Amino acid sequence: MSVVPAVHVIDGARVEAMEASATLADVNPATGEVLAEVPLDGATAVDAAVKSAVAAFPGWSQTPVGERCQVLFAYKQMLEDHFDELADLIVAEHGKNVPEARGDVRRGIDCIEFACGAPSLLMGRTLPRIAVSSSFSREGDENIPLDSTMERLPIGVCAGITPFNFPIMVPMWMWPMAIACGNTFVLKPSEKVSLCAVREVELAYEAGLPKGVLNLVLGGVEASTRLITHPDVKAVSFVGSTPVAKHVYATATAAGKRAQCMGGAKNCMLIMPDANRDAAIDGVIGSSFGNTGQRCLAGSVAIPVGEAAEWFTPAIVEAAKAIKTAAGGDADCGMGPLIDSASCSRVVAAIEAGVAEGADLLLDGRKASMPSGDCFVGPTVFDGVTPGMSLAEDEIFGPVLSIMPRGTLDDAIEVTRQSPFGNMAVMFTSSGYAANRLRTEAGAGMIGINVGVPAPMAVFPFSGWKDSFFGTLHANGEDSVRFFTECRILVSRWF
Ligand code: NAD
Repeated sequence: MSVVPAVHVIDGARVEAMEASATLADVNPATGEVLAEVPLDGATAVDAAVKSAVAAFPGWSQTPVGERCQVLFAYKQMLEDHFDELADLIVAEHGKNVPEARGDVRRGIDCIEFACGAPSLLMGRTLPRIAVSSSFSREGDENIPLDSTMERLPIGVCAGITPFNFPIMVPMWMWPMAIACGNTFVLKPSEKVSLCAVREVELAYEAGLPKGVLNLVLGGVEASTRLITHPDVKAVSFVGSTPVAKHVYATATAAGKRAQCMGGAKNCMLIMPDANRDAAIDGVIGSSFGNTGQRCLAGSVAIPVGEAAEWFTPAIVEAAKAIKTAAGGDADCGMGPLIDSASCSRVVAAIEAGVAEGADLLLDGRKASMPSGDCFVGPTVFDGVTPGMSLAEDEIFGPVLSIMPRGTLDDAIEVTRQSPFGNMAVMFTSSGYAANRLRTEAGAGMIGINVGVPAPMAVFPFSGWKDSFFGTLHANGEDSVRFFTECRILVSRWF
């Protein structure tokens, strides 16, 4: 593919690097080809973007919500028209295979469709005659009703900082609903997938977005830091790893901003003896190795309960062996590369640690048949993993499945309860009783029953708990409408 320049998008225009900053090579992880040099700008670029968003806010917030949504309707069509182009860009820049790249775009479009409902979602509430006035002493006026109304209003400039793993969708968890609610926005995407973000924002302008409503700053930690402390930013949405999510939440809220910060995960999948075996194997394979394990909803610990281990463990190894590790664009690619060589080294180190801790390496992804680039690791399966091992505790964010057999349902559920993370818990079973136990006791905000990746559609909030989320109102669903607005209450009486 041709090299696309990595530029900021500020005030509706493409803007070259603004500081004598360092750059980061944006590399196709399957081929090693450099796609762009990404400017790692900081305060100068962020300040220019926020200034543009501040200037655009009065006009945009006063634009009737139905008109704001017309831009999003046009944008939705623009995304459909450019669907293949965006999916190809994801394959090149991120390394996903084609179905996963198309899924990334499709789930992003879901968010636009949800935001197009803003006229209904933003409606306030009225409770007539909430009380009657008795304090007024004029004769005949002692029974005056008080009416009360709640309205939802935009809050100002909102900021979003996003990870690499869903380059098109995750930014759309944030800015479409923010601007539908009448806010203006500054996005700082992952420096590893800048080109996807630039195209996503440019298409919004091609769909008719007024300048300054959505700005994009490329960069890394320096840009993030300025954005989450900028005095004119009112709200911060963050998605990334848990240590950074915790830090961003603490910093943004200490600076007086509202914040929603989604973090990492370590997700368990329970396989009961009565499970539909094919569904369990398919579900676990998709959850553990889909997107090369780079999902916050990746199942990374499989817990076969009781005699389930007898059929589950050999079948999962055979199914994992059958996954073809290849460049994402290859027609029969089952699993693409990791995002970069540093990720590859991290995953290899996690495999070495698992071996050193005494887990049983049933399938070694370091030895898989795969392309020679330095971002590839094949599907890896460990058995005999026990609580306390790094394989059981740490988010690996790669194609490594740890099997931790447990004798009873109680023991299996206890593993999920002990986890500091709370994104997801999954069970394969035909027992409603066992499923309900998982739902109510797992300590996770997203539960899958006979579903390997229970990702909520955009109408529901993305409901991580514990160290997988810092804040009160999640991304998407009704939570997002509340996050991006503030309430005004009117109490009135008339004589
Ligand atoms: P990351 O935390 O390294 O980076 C995320 C973003 O934060 C990037 O834009 C990066 O530039 C910025 N950043 C990095 N360090 C920073 C700092 N010190 N201060 C401010 N900003 C900083 O995450 P990643 O590797 O891009 O993404 C993978 C992680 O994201 C995984 O842990 C995954 O579980 C998580 N994730 C979570 C969800 C969710 O909804 N819970 C969804 C997707 C990904």
